[in-house]
Amino acid sequence: MKIIDEPDRLSYRNVWTISECSNGGIHPVSYELLGIARKLAAERGCEVWTVAMGNALEGKLGSLIAYGADKVISVDDACLRAFNDELECHILERLINKYRPEIVLCAATSRGRALIPRLAGKIHAGLTADCTGLTIDPESGNLLQTRPAFGGNIMATIKSADFRPQMATVRPKVMPMPEPGPGRTREIIREAVEAADKLNIKEILRTVERHEATVNLSDARIIVAGGRAMKGPDGFRLLEAFAKQIGGAVGASRAAVDNGWIAYPHQIGQTGATVQTDLYIACGISGQIQHLVGMQSCKTIVAIDIDDTTPMMKLADIAVKGDLFEIIPNIMKEIGKGE
Ligand SMILES: Cc1cc2nc3c(=O)[nH]c(=O)nc-3n(C[C@H](O)[C@H](O)[C@H](O)COP(=O)(O)OP(=O)(O)OC[C@H]3O[C@@H](n4cnc5c(N)ncnc54)[C@H](O)[C@@H]3O)c2cc1C
Repeated sequence: MKIIDEPDRLSYRNVWTISECSNGGIHPVSYELLGIARKLAAERGCEVWTVAMGNALEGKLGSLIAYGADKVISVDDACLRAFNDELECHILERLINKYRPEIVLCAATSRGRALIPRLAGKIHAGLTADCTGLTIDPESGNLLQTRPAFGGNIMATIKSADFRPQMATVRPKVMPMPEPGPGRTREIIREAVEAADKLNIKEILRTVERHEATVNLSDARIIVAGGRAMKGPDGFRLLEAFAKQIGGAVGASRAAVDNGWIAYPHQIGQTGATVQTDLYIACGISGQIQHLVGMQSCKTIVAIDIDDTTPMMKLADIAVKGDLFEIIPNIMKEIGKGE
């Protein structure tokens, strides 16, 4: 919403996060958002509120309080069992108009990416996607939203000075996970789904289990990722066997995904997932900046490439020069001997 004058600006207060609730529970990124929200709220001298939309939420909301919410707005309804971006957008629009938060943070997950640009467009608010840093400008009190720009070559800091709320998305694992504080007692505000929220929305007839559920990149401690050098789907069968042997998950560069050799949820990088594993094994991935931004925080990086001058080989803690189709089977054979 365009802010016209100072009193209007001052009527917006508190830092909100949108928590991601599904049948499986609360997505861990919701807690990461609460961690950064607490820091921002401390600087603004205000409260942290989180909005939880879903079905059968009782029993799940306590953790949101433990991780930092002062107030939880719970919208618990059977019609929210399956994610529906239009419906959740209508509800959030109504809640934002009612409570007027100053800042709204949402996860840059597939759900958040479907929901939040729609909401920002509806309420005419500024939105900065995929922020890696969020602070408060000490002079103006505005939210400073930092994110990579121009393919990750520069960091841009963006302000939405004339609009409220200020909205930003953050990818999973970019912000640190806060420590839960047991024993916090705070308030739960219960809001109903109203008839107007459901007007003119598409009806979900059937929900297909998301492919991401089987990919688990963000929880993996080891990732074996393949690039263009995998040459096709069969190359990824080799990586799957390798990953299984060492208890890891399979990742991919965009080149491999664009070629249709592996599904998009496996993509790592600027337009894919951000990961922070203990071990990242890059197989035939040159390491362009758009890939590096998604994995450069991994603790130990191993690169296998025929060319030892690539950015990935330079970044790696261990760089192995050679043909991956020889090296990986040899490593698997050696590991197999010890099993
Ligand atoms: C806006 C934008 C967003 C993007 N987002 C992403 C993103 O999210 N993720 C992403 O990955 N990319 C992204 N890209 C694409 C990115 O710029 C690169 O094109 C891509 O990462 C390259 O993939 P690659 O490293 O697999 O392929 P290449 O750059 O072609 O590298 C292949 C590597 O394999 C090596 N090789 C070849 N054969 C063998 C062999 N037999 N054994 C061992 N090594 C071998 C080669 O020496 C080379 O280093 C994006 C680009 C743009 C413009």
